[in-house]
Amino acid sequence: VKIKKAEYILSAAWKSQWSKESFPEMCLAGRSNVGKSSFINTMLSRNGLAKVSSTPGKTKTLNFFNVNDALYFVDVPGYGYAKVANNVTKQFGKTMDEYISERQTLRGFILLVDYRHKPTKDDVMMYEFVKHHGVPVILVATKEDKLKRNDLKKNEKLIKDTLHFDPSDTFIRFSSLKKKGIQEAWNAIYELCDI
Ligand code: GDP
Repeated sequence: VKIKKAEYILSAAWKSQWSKESFPEMCLAGRSNVGKSSFINTMLSRNGLAKVSSTPGKTKTLNFFNVNDALYFVDVPGYGYAKVANNVTKQFGKTMDEYISERQTLRGFILLVDYRHKPTKDDVMMYEFVKHHGVPVILVATKEDKLKRNDLKKNEKLIKDTLHFDPSDTFIRFSSLKKKGIQEAWNAIYELCDI
């Protein structure tokens, strides 16, 4: 996949601000620090397009990126950050409900989990939320380079079992550091987006 264009378009706090374009859309979600910004930057071969390790949980907007004038990435703020005020969390829950039930161009979620660990309650909740709405998931297990070879299969099973992984979803072993899983992730995205 050649990335000719990767451009930040807008941040939407409200539904009225969502992009009016009709490109197929992939929504990206994951716990703060899971490696989501690194994933976006690696997939788009752009450094610093998505901010790496900015103060987690501060911004509660949906951030739209145009990729090759063919699809949109919609980046969701990292969840599971304890210091976020409760009213912010509530408002954001409403934003996500609205987005997943009303966004016509949404083709799937890219949900990122840390390959090293059992998914947290927040991870399970997010996966359930997406599956509840019947939306396909590309599950990206990040920081693959930090695992011992012996643990690759074992942790994949732990993650799938904990999430009650839907076998029709795709599991990707990913490392931004080692540039691993990029092609597999693009294949899965293109399939969902009919590109
Ligand atoms: P975000 O909060 O989900 O956007 O996570 P970041 O992309 O900012 O990454 C959080 C931390 O994990 C940073 O210190 C990254 O350097 C590190 N990280 C991200 N991806 C990888 C990876 O593939 N391998 C390793 N070893 N570290 C990573």
